[in-house]
Amino acid sequence: MTESSPRTAVITGAARGIGAATARRLARDGFSIAVIDLDEDACAPIVDEIRAAGGHALAVAADVSAEAPVAAAVQRITAELGAPTVLVNNAGILRDNLLFKMTLDDWDAVMSVHLRGAFLMSRAVQSHMVAARWGRIVNLSSISALGNRGQVNYSAAKAGLQGFTKTLAIELGPFGVTANAIAPGFIASEMTAATAERMGIPFEEFMEMAAADTSVRRVGVPDDVAGTVSFLVSDDASFISGQTIYVSGGPTI
Ligand code: NAP
Repeated sequence: MTESSPRTAVITGAARGIGAATARRLARDGFSIAVIDLDEDACAPIVDEIRAAGGHALAVAADVSAEAPVAAAVQRITAELGAPTVLVNNAGILRDNLLFKMTLDDWDAVMSVHLRGAFLMSRAVQSHMVAARWGRIVNLSSISALGNRGQVNYSAAKAGLQGFTKTLAIELGPFGVTANAIAPGFIASEMTAATAERMGIPFEEFMEMAAADTSVRRVGVPDDVAGTVSFLVSDDASFISGQTIYVSGGPTI
C-alpha cells in the first residue's frame, strides 16, 4: 500500500473479540475503519476508542448474511469513509451440537453467517478493490475446519471458507487483490467463554485445559489474530495469496 492508496478497511463482527482487536490494530496501521456488527450501539466503544486515538472509524449495523443491508452498508462506508480496499470477514456464530441433535436451523444459521456473509461482503467490496488495482481480503477460518466433535456445521463452514479464499485469490489476483484465510486455535473471547458456559466449565479452567493441549502452553488472545491480519493486509504480504495461516500456538493435525 502506498501513501496514495485508498486506506479504508471493513471489518465484520468487529464490536468485540477478534474483530475489535483487528479494528484497533488496523487503525494503528493507518486505515480508516468501518466497524460492522449486528447492533450499531455495540460498535460505539471501539469506534470511540479509535477516534480518541486520532483515527477514523464508522459504526455500521448490518447482518452480513442479508443482501440488501450488506449493499447499503458498503454504499454508506464508501460515501462516509472512502472506498474500501481491505475486507476482514470475521463475523461468526456457533450453534454446536452432535449431528443427531443438530437442527436444520443450527446448520443454516452457521452457513448463513460464515459462508453467505463472506460471499455477500466480498462481492459487495470487490469492485472498489478492482478499481484501485489493490485490495486485501482476509477470511476467518478455524482449526475446526480440520474436524471437531459437535461442530459439523461450523467445521464445514470454516473448511468452505478456505476453498472460497483460494478461489477469490485466483479470480482477483490479476487486479492486485490478495485473499488469505486465518485459522485460529483457541482464542479467549466471548465466543469461547460461551462455549465454556454451555459445557458447565468455569472459563479459567476451560482455558487451562486448552493451554495444556497447545504446544506453546497458552491460549491465544485476539491480538494474536489481529497481528496476523495486519501482516496479511500489508505490502510485505503482496506475494502471499490463497493461503490459510494457522494461528494456533502449534502445528495442527
Ligand atoms: P465473538 O466474540 O462471538 O464475536 C463475533 C462478533 O460477530 C459478535 O460481535 C457478533 O455480534 C458478530 N456477528 C454475529 N453474527 C453476525 C452477523 N450476521 N452480522 C454481523 N455481525 C455478526 O467471536 P470471536 O471469538 O471474536 O470470533 C471471531 C471470528 O473468529 C469468528 O468468525 C469465529 O468463528 C472465528 N474464530 C474464533 C475462534 C476463537 O477461539 N474465539 C477460533 C477460531 C475461529 P453479536 O454479539 O450481536 O452476536
